[in-house]
Formats: sequence, C-alpha cells, structure tokens
Amino acid sequence: MLTRKLHIDPINPDMGAIAEASGIVKAGGIIIFPTETVYGIGANALNESACRRIFALKGRPSDNPLIVHVSSLEMAEGIASIPAEYRDGIRRVWPSPITFIAKSNGTLQKAVTGGLSTVAVRMPAHPVALALISECGVPIAAPSANPSGRPSATNPRRAISYFDGRVECIIDSGAAFFGIESTVIDLESFTVLRPGPFTPEEIEKAFGRMPKVDAVTRGMAHSGVAVSPGVKYAHYAPKTKLLLFSGDIGELTGLLDGIQNLPPFAFIGSAESCKAVSEAFGCSTIALGDRPDLYKIAKNLYDGIIALDSLNVAFGIIEAFEERGIGLAIMNRIRKACSGTSFNSADGLSKILEP
Ligand code: AMP
Ligand code: MG
Repeated sequence: MLTRKLHIDPINPDMGAIAEASGIVKAGGIIIFPTETVYGIGANALNESACRRIFALKGRPSDNPLIVHVSSLEMAEGIASIPAEYRDGIRRVWPSPITFIAKSNGTLQKAVTGGLSTVAVRMPAHPVALALISECGVPIAAPSANPSGRPSATNPRRAISYFDGRVECIIDSGAAFFGIESTVIDLESFTVLRPGPFTPEEIEKAFGRMPKVDAVTRGMAHSGVAVSPGVKYAHYAPKTKLLLFSGDIGELTGLLDGIQNLPPFAFIGSAESCKAVSEAFGCSTIALGDRPDLYKIAKNLYDGIIALDSLNVAFGIIEAFEERGIGLAIMNRIRKACSGTSFNSADGLSKILEP
C-alpha cells in the first residue's frame, strides 16, 4: 500500500490538508498523527473493523484497550459517563496530556474497550490532532504508533520506520511536544494508572484532591489483574539487555572498575553522568539532556533507548532520575524498558551478566 504523507504545520494546521486526512479516517482508513505526547495510530472509534486493524498492525493483545481521542467534553460524554463531580476539573485541564478512565455508555465496541465496562478518553493539546478530530466529527481511537512492546514513536521518522506502506496516511508535524505518553487517571478510584507529563501535583491543583500513586504507577510492580491492561505487559524495551542503576555515578564507576572481563557496554543518562562515565571507561554514551531538565530527558528517552540497539554492545546501563514531577513518568518507562532488572553492586551486576 502506498502511504499518503502529509506535512502539516503543528501550530497553524492547513485546513485543506486536515480535510484530506479526515476524509481518510471517515472512509475507514488508518492514520498516524501527532499529539503533544507521542504519535498515535488512529481510526474512527465507531468503526469496529478499522479499530481491529490497529490491533493487527501493532500486534497488540486484544485485551489492551485503546485511548479514545475527542475534541470536546461533549464528544467524550457521547461515549462515557463522566461523574458530575469531576466535570469542572476536566474542563479546567483539557486539552492536555491527561486521559481519564470512565464508565462506558455502551456506544463503543469491544474492539476498542477490550470488553471492559470502562473507556479511556482524552482531549489532546495538539492543534493538528484537535483539528483532525473535530473535522472528522467522531472520536478517534488511537494507541501509540509503535509495534506492541517497542518504544513509542515520538517523531514522524520513527512512525514511518515502523509503519510505512501499511497504513493509509502518516501526518508529519515534526517532533511530539513531550515525547512520553499521557497520564492515565482512573476516575472511579482517583488513581494514577500511568504517570505522564501531567503530574500528580498538577492534578491536585485542578481537582482539589491528590490522586493515589502506588507501586504499579511507579512501574515497580506488575498488575496481574487488568486495572489498566497496559500495565500487564512489557513495554518500551530495546532489543539489547538494559539495566537500571540507581546510585551515584562515582559509585557506578567504582563498581564497574571491580569487574574483570567487563563486556562492551553503553551508558544512557544525563549529559553530566555521560561525561563522567565516558571519561572513566571510554565507552559509548547516550546523553538525554542536562540532569535538572527532566522534560528534555523525557523527550529524548525513547530515541535514546532505541539508539542502544545500533551500538553493538553486550548490554546497556541506564541511570535513575528523581521521581518528582515528570520524573515519575520517566522512571515508570525506564523500569519497564529494563523489565525490572536493576543492580547496585559489582556482585549483582556480575550475576546478571552471567551467560
Ligand atoms: P497506548 O498504547 O500508549 O495508547 O496506551 C493506552 C493505555 O491506556 C494502555 O495502558 C491501556 O491499557 C490504557 N487503557 C485504555 N483503556 C483503558 C480502560 N478502559 N481502563 C484502563 N486502562 C485503559
Ligand atoms: Mg503504547
């Protein structure tokens, strides 16, 4: 299939191009489009067979439902029952990188909801996404534009590398603004199911109530039950073994020094830590940004993880970041990319590296 590529300015979208893109969605096609978080692979949420095709293209388990993107609270209320107590708060925060789980009103098919009685809705803060949804006049179901388990596409190049020739259209509006997926809040329990760019502190400000944050939120535990089905599955993983180190960099270099026959490895972390590790070992490093700039680190995280696979090393080490603000989302994604494998001693590392 020839994939139609549309360049659309991210801030002042050309309405002719938006009309062409929405025509593709209305005809049942699959479209890859920018949002402020990551690129989405979307279809008319009311078209069951188009939604099924998204699962097939991603290799996504059918019990992992899709986020449904809307262009207004009214459109959200056409598919979900939003509790009255939260309506004002949602009006205050939308559009933004925050997804709410609410009771489904039965409009959406099983292909979208995974057979759950709830639905995930969000109004993206991206001019192209908003214009596209409102021009379509229907909600757009869209998970992140990546094969299941792989890092999300944060720019059109990555989306093209994953899906060119397999979808009807890819919109190129440059890099997504945040580069990390939306915050997911369950309205029933007021819990952060997945941390994202919109922080618990900001949610407290908008809703007058602090959402719950637990071990699953931090990516430290896997949920066996499908509270948020996404948390059941491994995610964001590179092909190369990736290990998390949480300690200071002086400690890390000391500990690596103590290991004989250390196989070639690469280090992923802040610019400051990369400099220290590369001076000590002359190894490859992937700098994500300056340590205090957590938004930049979040934005570069997936490209950094993907870059590891092109370095021809036996394993990668990624450093931990402060779990404050968007740092909560960064650490959730890092823990999943490492499948929970971390070390803090030479012994621990040697054991992990044993064949
Ligand atoms: P993504 O593939 O990055 O768009 O992720 C969508 C996320 O939203 C996944 O973690 C899903 O499991 C989650 N999600 C979607 N619908 C629901 C729902 N009804 N209840 C709980 N989590 C949901
Ligand atoms: Mg995803």
